[in-house]
Amino acid sequence: MKVAIYPGSFDPITKGHLDILKTGAGIFDKVIIAVARNSEKHGFLTIEERVKLIKESVTDLNNVEVDCFDGLTVNYAKKCGAQVLIRGLRAVSDFEYELQLSQANSALDSDIKTVFLTTKPKYNFISSSTIREILLNGGDISKFVPEPVFEYLTNR
Ligand code: ADP
Repeated sequence: MKVAIYPGSFDPITKGHLDILKTGAGIFDKVIIAVARNSEKHGFLTIEERVKLIKESVTDLNNVEVDCFDGLTVNYAKKCGAQVLIRGLRAVSDFEYELQLSQANSALDSDIKTVFLTTKPKYNFISSSTIREILLNGGDISKFVPEPVFEYLTNR
């Protein structure tokens, strides 16, 4: 059974993340989307809020699980029996950081491989930080985030 972890901050989850997750769920037997707890420090939403919103956004994906984790991603992956980490690439600017991260992870545990996926072009520019910025300035985020995220953030 091929299990992949899709780790990240997901503060909040966006349609870009969801698109990557759906592609991953079509490739692997199981995908665990996992919020990194160490990303809470300067967070917008709490880890619990992020996990709750992801759960509400993935109800139609039956081979996807939602979780959060502390510590090194490779240790968490091993614990879950996963062999693969999924990361998304938006632009060349993401590549340098992501390449470094994947090489660091592979130096820590050579059994864990990183797979890079891209989104549909219409979701490519979306980032959690852009969403937060639009929201804080009173803009409409409905096109960029899953419905449960839109409802939660606009009523917040
Ligand atoms: P992190 O803080 O770990 O970068 P993010 O929640 O910002 O966490 O992103 C998690 C992963 O999803 C990263 O690999 C990031 O490049 C990818 N990602 C985020 N938004 C998009 C998008 N619109 N298209 C493709 N990949 C994306």
